[in-house]
Amino acid sequence: MIFGKKIIIKNEEEMMMVAEEAAKILVKKEEKRKGALMITLEGELGAGKTTFARGFLKALGVKRKITSPTFVLIKKYSLLKKTGFLKAYHADAYRLKDGDLEILGWREILENPENVVLVEWPERVREARTTGAVKIKFKHLKEGREVEIKNS
Ligand code: ADP
Ligand code: MG
Repeated sequence: MIFGKKIIIKNEEEMMMVAEEAAKILVKKEEKRKGALMITLEGELGAGKTTFARGFLKALGVKRKITSPTFVLIKKYSLLKKTGFLKAYHADAYRLKDGDLEILGWREILENPENVVLVEWPERVREARTTGAVKIKFKHLKEGREVEIKNS
C-alpha cells in the first residue's frame, strides 16, 4: 500500500510507476464524490511533482505528451469514459496568487465530479487548498525523492 506513509523513490521511472498505482486505486474507488477528484502536489522545484502527474495521467489513458503547465497554468486532457471521468486538469500555481485560479474557471472545474484535478504548488493560492483533496508531498533527497500520499 502506498498511502499514509513516506516512501523513497529512486528514479523517474519508479516515480511514474508509483503515480500509476495511485491513479488506479483512486480512480477505482466508486464512492460518490461531491465534486472533482482533486490531488494536490506539494514540494520544492524539481521534487518530482510534474513527473508524478505524468504517470498519473498516463495511467488514465492520456496518450498526448504531458508537459509541465508552468507557463500555461492549466492543461486540459480528455479521458476515456471507462475511467469514470471525462476530463483531467493539470494546474501549476507557482506563479499565481490568491484568486488567480478562479479567473480561469476553477470553481466550475472543481464542482464537476467527472473531473480529475492535479495541482502543483497548492500552497500558493487559497482556492487550491480545498479540503477533501488527496495530498501528496514530495521531498528532494540526496538520491531520489521522498513521497507521502495522504488520502483523506
Ligand atoms: P517538479 O514538477 O516538482 O518541479 P519534476 O517532476 O519536473 O519536478 O522533476 C524534476 C526532475 O527530477 C526531472 O528531471 C525528473 O526526471 C527528476 N525526477 C523525478 N522523480 C525522481 C526521482 N524519484 N528520483 C530522481 N529524479 C527524479
Ligand atoms: Mg512541475
